[in-house]
Amino acid sequence: MMGSNYHGGPRRRPRSISAVYALVILSGTLISATFYLFGIRPLSDLLRSFLAAQISHNLEDGMHAVDAVFTRHRDLAAQVASRSVIRSRQIDFLQGRIGAADLAAFAAPKLADAVRSSTEIVGIVRHAPDGRFLFSVGEAIPETLAADCLSLPLTEPRPLPMTASPLRFAYCSPIRDARYGLVGFDVIAAATDAVQQAIDALDRPMASFALASRSTDIAFRQTPPAHEAAMTALSLFLTTGRGQPGYVLESAATGVPGLSLFTVVDQEGFYEQIRDKLRTLLITLGVAASIILAAAVVLLKPVIRALLDEQRLIEMATYDMLTGLLNWGAFHSTLDREMERARRYRHPLSLILFDIDFFKRVNDTHGHPVGDEVLREIGRVCPRLFRRTDISARYGGEEFAVILPETGEPHAGDLADRLRLAIADAPVATAAGPIAVTVSAGVLTWRPAQGDVTKAELIAKADAALYASKAAGRNRVTAAAFEA
Ligand code: GH3
Ligand code: MG
Ligand code: MG
Repeated sequence: MMGSNYHGGPRRRPRSISAVYALVILSGTLISATFYLFGIRPLSDLLRSFLAAQISHNLEDGMHAVDAVFTRHRDLAAQVASRSVIRSRQIDFLQGRIGAADLAAFAAPKLADAVRSSTEIVGIVRHAPDGRFLFSVGEAIPETLAADCLSLPLTEPRPLPMTASPLRFAYCSPIRDARYGLVGFDVIAAATDAVQQAIDALDRPMASFALASRSTDIAFRQTPPAHEAAMTALSLFLTTGRGQPGYVLESAATGVPGLSLFTVVDQEGFYEQIRDKLRTLLITLGVAASIILAAAVVLLKPVIRALLDEQRLIEMATYDMLTGLLNWGAFHSTLDREMERARRYRHPLSLILFDIDFFKRVNDTHGHPVGDEVLREIGRVCPRLFRRTDISARYGGEEFAVILPETGEPHAGDLADRLRLAIADAPVATAAGPIAVTVSAGVLTWRPAQGDVTKAELIAKADAALYASKAAGRNRVTAAAFEA
């Protein structure tokens, strides 16, 4: 136990239990900071980067829903055009076998039935291949659309805007015969409820949808009030071409010329969602970390206490409680060690023993506690006066020892005298006022080169020198010589 870790100075204070807790808390903080820097922050950045992907995904979904309506309308238009009985009558008409009135009388009721039975087709105008009006059923459709259709390649039903505000669609639908080729075309007006329903059915977090073109402004928009702010942002964009901070706009062209599907994403709302989730995660982590810390503190407490108790026991076994110098036992083991070292390296070793003069009088006059104050002060003087490698010890009641490794005479004698003068010249400030004390010392140097000695011989010789100082009148130093 008496290792080489103690020295002649006042004993070190035991590391306090709170320092250990501070360490635990510091490491907890470090772990949290690391977690934030290398975990949560990159995660947050990553989630933000998903916004772009989310937007294009939204747009795809929206296009899918809108296209489904257009495709259904085109199929209905193709069905109307595919009635073979009507088609052959139309060829008869084109080849002059029947008149326009006969054709209308035959075909119009049939197409009127088609309009009545369909919720999505609201009107049909049939034309000859050159654009001549033949007959119409259902809702009125502007005449100008025939010319628009003729400007298109009439290979399949195509949607185009019928009225601008409100926006309605019509389909240019060719009527083809396998042998004859193009036998005419329909302009078919479609109900827009399905388009509105398709838009309304789109439900994506933080995203709003609308069908719009630059010329018509917003034609179809999602109706719930939740989308109001996003629609305002879209209107601003359509009229000024500028976006609104906090909103991201993306668009894709639909099958209707000039008409685009827009998605408007509430960026702030999107980030707020991420922040919400991360906040929950952080709080959960914080609570978990606190529980772990608290558990660590509770579990560590007895362990730390035991360690501190052990340390205190070691110190009690090593140091003198009053002066903080090495105690008698530690003095002996240190002297053993230093003698061994001196022997091995053939270096000189000196020992000072000193004793307070008439110390009994101090106790008798001022009381034991004041005597203790004087002893404590001597304990402070010693380490101050000597090198760190010199070892001071309280050898007995008011007897002290200083081991001086690698020190020979006359240096050891000078040091002893310096100590004597330092004590004699500075009265000790005590509760009973300044008390002047003197010490008597014996000093001895051992040079291993000149012969070996035992520890007991060394101490006895120094003690004899100390006794000589007492006998000679005290407050003095006597140097003993070694005759090998
Ligand atoms: P001398 O000059 O011959 O050494 O005279 P002295 O009075 O110092 O010697 P003596 O051995 O007669 O007395 C030593 C005294 O030291 C006796 C004892 O009460 C006192 N003493 C020993 N240890 C302590 C201590 O821890 N505290 C106090 N206050 N006094 C102590
Ligand atoms: Mg004494
Ligand atoms: Mg004594």
